[in-house]
Amino acid sequence: MATATVTAAKGSAMARSVVGKAVRPAHYVAGEFRSVGAARFPLVNPVDGAVVGEVPEADRETVDAAVAAARAALAAWGGSSVEVRAAALRRIADGVEARFDEFVDAEVADTGKPRDLAASVDIPRAIGNFRAYADLLYGRPERAHSTAVPGWSGGTGQALNYSVRRPLGVVAIVSPWNLPLLLLTWKVAPALAAGNTVVAKPSEETPSTATLLAEVIHEVGLPVGTFNLIHGHGAGAAGEFLTAHPDVDAIAFTGESATGTAIMRVAAEHITPVSFELGGKNPAIVFADADFEQAVAGTLRSAFTHSGQICLCTERVYVERSIHADFVAELGRGARALTGYGPMISAAHRDKVLSYYRLAVEEGATVVAGGGVPAFGDERDRGFHVEPTVLTGLSQGARTVREEVFGPICHVAPFDTEDEAVALANDSPYGLAATVWTRDLSRAHRVAPRVAAGIVWVNCWNLRDLRTPFGGIKASGIGREGGEYSLDFFSEPVNICIAI
Ligand code: NAD
Repeated sequence: MATATVTAAKGSAMARSVVGKAVRPAHYVAGEFRSVGAARFPLVNPVDGAVVGEVPEADRETVDAAVAAARAALAAWGGSSVEVRAAALRRIADGVEARFDEFVDAEVADTGKPRDLAASVDIPRAIGNFRAYADLLYGRPERAHSTAVPGWSGGTGQALNYSVRRPLGVVAIVSPWNLPLLLLTWKVAPALAAGNTVVAKPSEETPSTATLLAEVIHEVGLPVGTFNLIHGHGAGAAGEFLTAHPDVDAIAFTGESATGTAIMRVAAEHITPVSFELGGKNPAIVFADADFEQAVAGTLRSAFTHSGQICLCTERVYVERSIHADFVAELGRGARALTGYGPMISAAHRDKVLSYYRLAVEEGATVVAGGGVPAFGDERDRGFHVEPTVLTGLSQGARTVREEVFGPICHVAPFDTEDEAVALANDSPYGLAATVWTRDLSRAHRVAPRVAAGIVWVNCWNLRDLRTPFGGIKASGIGREGGEYSLDFFSEPVNICIAI
């Protein structure tokens, strides 16, 4: 079962410090690690393009075995007490913390993201996810137990009604590559907390930290089959085998909106409930009364953190006309000055992002900063980096302004009135996140609720409290995660009526 270091990427000391250390990905089914099987695919480090390992591709039989194991574990785990579950979640959090550096290494190896980002956000948040749900369960056991209501039933007699929350059953969790462990555990923790058993499939691009998590869970010793992990691709492969499985009771998915559509189609066959966190094309609105430096710095962060590969990143910036030219100049200067940024996740994603850089120019954009591929003069030139890019001059209807790029790109356009700013921000098929920059308190309160997004930040970005509702509207998702919202999705209230 042990973690096996495959290789550190070849190359100079500089490259080794940024590529991390891969682990050997394995399925975890019915309490056993399985990496045998014919089909495998290479694991590529996006910093320098080096192959750092290989990933087993789960076939239908492996997926069936994982779902069957989860079904078999349901009575033991779903029937366990809140105290037992909360204690197990805490032990998982402790187990990840005890191997913190290994998790950071593995996340860096798979994603190429800067080490300090993985060490300050991804891994601590994953630990926090388990602790947050342990706290919620342990501190608020009524969420998992009952409420009692003495009542009158249709005039035929008195009754005592109460409701219990039951787990949904076997939950399929399918997650993306951009925040691999954070987003996986954001679903695994509440799913387990509510008494479900889990079959998880991380992105094919980022299998390593999920494998380490399975090792931690194995050591914690949950009932065999409570947590299962399978690796592989999505459409026509492990992801689809899992989400189309007739014995899966619910699907929690984070990824592209188009994938959400595909999953919803197959889920419809069995009326399987879904919770979806999907794509975005997030706006920022900058009013002339904003703290200029704070707004520029905040927009640099919101557009370019993790090279724009966070679903919450800003890709559309609307700036009040009187400060538009100054703002564009400062944002461009800031983008050109960025160093130490990571690559796109894959060659294919790099090519997609570059195709949008080209498309933007064809659509008539002025390139203020970036727009191409950086030259480092070292191993990174074999990786999948693109330049942080600031554009202006596109119409609201341009594809670059409407479609999610999911890279380090933002387009800045002017507006004249508050109403126009809100209308432009809302003119999108997506509605995940938005930022508003203003020093006018009344304006902040007036504008924020009018913006059609699941989360609106005022004078900040990506400031998160795990108890608050998180999710998107329109094509950005279905349902809300976070705190009790996740527990509500992962359990169902059942009414019990007793005649008196
Ligand atoms: P993706 O949709 O390509 O893949 C996500 C997962 O779905 C992977 O595990 C993949 O193997 C699987 N998958 C793909 N096709 C499938 C199918 N037909 N059936 C079952 N599973 C399938 O997304 P990605 O490229 O990994 O991630 C980037 C996207 O995720 C962006 O659109 C981004 O905005 C979105 N995202 C959203 C949030 C959020 O909270 N709203 C968070 C992170 C990322």
